[in-house]
Amino acid sequence: MLGLMQDWPLTVDRILDHAKINFPRREAVTRSVEGPISRTTYGTVWRRAKQVTNALIERGIRPGDRVATLAWNTERHLEAWFGTMGMGAVLHTVNPRLFPEQIAWIINHAEDQVLFFDTTFAPIVDKIAPHLKTVKTFVAMTDRDHVPKSEVTHFVAYEDFIHGHAQEATWGGFDENTAAGLCYTSGTTGEPKGVLYSHRSNVLHAMAANQADVFGCGASDVVLPVVPMFHANAWAIAFVAPMCGSKLVMPGAKLDGASIYELLETEKVTFTAAVPTVWLMLLNHMREHNLKLSTLKRVAIGGSAVPEAVLRAFEEDYGVEVIHAWGMTEMSPIGSIGKLLPEHHAMDHESRIRAKLKQGRALFTVDMKIVDDEGAPKPHDGKAFGRLLVRGPAVARAYFKNAGARNDKGECLEPDGFFDTGDVATIDELGVMQITDRAKDVIKSGGEWISSIDIENIAVGAEGVANAAVIGVAHPKWDERPLLIVEPKPGAEPTREQLLAFIDGKIAKWWMPDDVVLVEKIPLGATGKINKLALREMFKDYKLPSAQAAE
Ligand code: AMP
Repeated sequence: MLGLMQDWPLTVDRILDHAKINFPRREAVTRSVEGPISRTTYGTVWRRAKQVTNALIERGIRPGDRVATLAWNTERHLEAWFGTMGMGAVLHTVNPRLFPEQIAWIINHAEDQVLFFDTTFAPIVDKIAPHLKTVKTFVAMTDRDHVPKSEVTHFVAYEDFIHGHAQEATWGGFDENTAAGLCYTSGTTGEPKGVLYSHRSNVLHAMAANQADVFGCGASDVVLPVVPMFHANAWAIAFVAPMCGSKLVMPGAKLDGASIYELLETEKVTFTAAVPTVWLMLLNHMREHNLKLSTLKRVAIGGSAVPEAVLRAFEEDYGVEVIHAWGMTEMSPIGSIGKLLPEHHAMDHESRIRAKLKQGRALFTVDMKIVDDEGAPKPHDGKAFGRLLVRGPAVARAYFKNAGARNDKGECLEPDGFFDTGDVATIDELGVMQITDRAKDVIKSGGEWISSIDIENIAVGAEGVANAAVIGVAHPKWDERPLLIVEPKPGAEPTREQLLAFIDGKIAKWWMPDDVVLVEKIPLGATGKINKLALREMFKDYKLPSAQAAE
């Protein structure tokens, strides 16, 4: 027997419709790429997004066609986002931090028809335009006065592109499983793969992401997504904010400590989200200038593990609650959240800090389990490591054009229908998960696993350390042993002995790095994470002193 409730497809156009009807005057503020702060409202974003739809239709875009953006978080990006998805076309957010060749490859693979880009990226667009096989229209997200000059490509100004188009257009009315967004994984292993979100997955994920124990935003919040829209939907915030009527503050191209601090204070931000590197920059800036945070209440941190020093600074020095989030592009992206449970509240401060360093428990809509190499479940005792597998309505089933298919249905799943995250984790008795490594980054020493992440998190707390990475280096006796690579803060010169002494006692003896090297800069990948592949390449011939002794 079927239920007798109304059929109301879960399509993302309803999110902006809801904002326009219920919060038409709520602001969306942008640090524009041109420079000044610009202010709009959800009502105006809605109207201009409709103009985007009409402009796209005029250029021949049909439902299912891909429309790319190479863009910062701005109000125009939000308009292009909803204008494209609303009509049933697919908004493909391209990560501008990839190499130009990769960007061209991705755009060709996606067969994008239109490319919206911020003027910051005009040099990239100019360089790749001759190699783009399907893009017919290049829209510079600015007005006519600011359109960059190009010898090669015809750039249309965004304001001209939408000018004169009607502020009404039909949105939605299609199956909720229709594709809405496309985002490629960063491609650190092999070719990038396209994750194709559906309207339904985005709506369900946004609702899950805004539960009280997750982001918990409401109409009185002011939300600053530093995390870019090209990182898996700005962690759902581009949907969450209009859904619940939060004021939205978007940082444009300026993600440095001073610029973010200024927005947090002048716009009275209450909730923000970004990867740890952004917060390291902000915290350094605040310390240097002896600044305080007057309105910020919660900060979501994810993308890589929250370093203990960052957690303590926010919670102990500035009174801001840290929400540790874990997820991945294939999960829309949030999978788990580090909000404490009543059992944690009963603990002392230090135990709570320890609990918060874990990646947290599954959101509703995510099933999570850890298994061994054969797929047998591992116990939830907080000690046993296993491959972390997930499933849910906002988890990828297959990649675009069946890339990386593992079965004849083109799916990228394990035989039991779970998705292998490529992470290795423990889950404790309370269901709290802790990532111990990427499967490919764990250090295999004497048949046991050492977590590179655990050591890195401790090392970044040592004096004079700006960033730290741990990789496995070949060892004749143990197979691999950990090497600690440290990027010192400007002017600091931490020694090997000081660093090892700092770590000693905080991890098992046999996890202690066999050696320490200082480097000027730890290489970061396109999503701001440590590029272990590059580090392994840099140190592939490195001889540990302990290895020489064992030979
Ligand atoms: P991406 O798809 O680029 O967002 O990368 C996803 C991967 O980032 C995950 O599979 C994890 O390895 C890593 N990651 C994301 N969030 C965290 C976190 N809070 N702690 C540790 N690793 C994380």
